Amino acid sequence: MQATADHALERAWEVLETVPDPEIPVVSIRELGILRDVRRAADGLIEVVITPTYSGCPAMSQIAEDVAHALDIAELAPYRIATTLTPAWTTDWITDEAREKLRAYGIAPPTGNCGSGVPAGEQPITFMPKPLPAPACPHCGSHHTERLAQFGSTACKALYRCIDCREPFDYFKPY
Ligand SMILES: [Zn+2]
Repeated sequence: MQATADHALERAWEVLETVPDPEIPVVSIRELGILRDVRRAADGLIEVVITPTYSGCPAMSQIAEDVAHALDIAELAPYRIATTLTPAWTTDWITDEAREKLRAYGIAPPTGNCGSGVPAGEQPITFMPKPLPAPACPHCGSHHTERLAQFGSTACKALYRCIDCREPFDYFKPY
């Protein structure tokens, strides 16, 4: 963290906040908590730190490409993109704003948290030692839902169906 104004860094944050998630384009990588930091490295380069979501999510190389593309367009090169695995990404990092966007998009946002006990910037969530309740249908809000498949359109999501309105939907699994 630098106390003095660093306009290139500010600009980098601005452009990167608009980079959408390749799988769920209604939310940005910042809102999903994938974009961890934009900083000056010791050698003076702009360093962008990203944390992959679910291990094995094939979107990661796409995200790095999108980040590079956004920085190139903003003429912020040279830069470095660093991937960090610690701390591991969790669905707790998804912002409230993004959860609403997911719901509007037809994806049930994760309920509860992964049990880290440190909700990062989230409103307090009830701890659930028992299995989590069925996710609410993003279409009608009913909790009368059933899981059809462990994996939905991607490994990050499970496929559910609403028993009330009969609409299928993806559920962003807590992680
Ligand atoms: Zn429904």
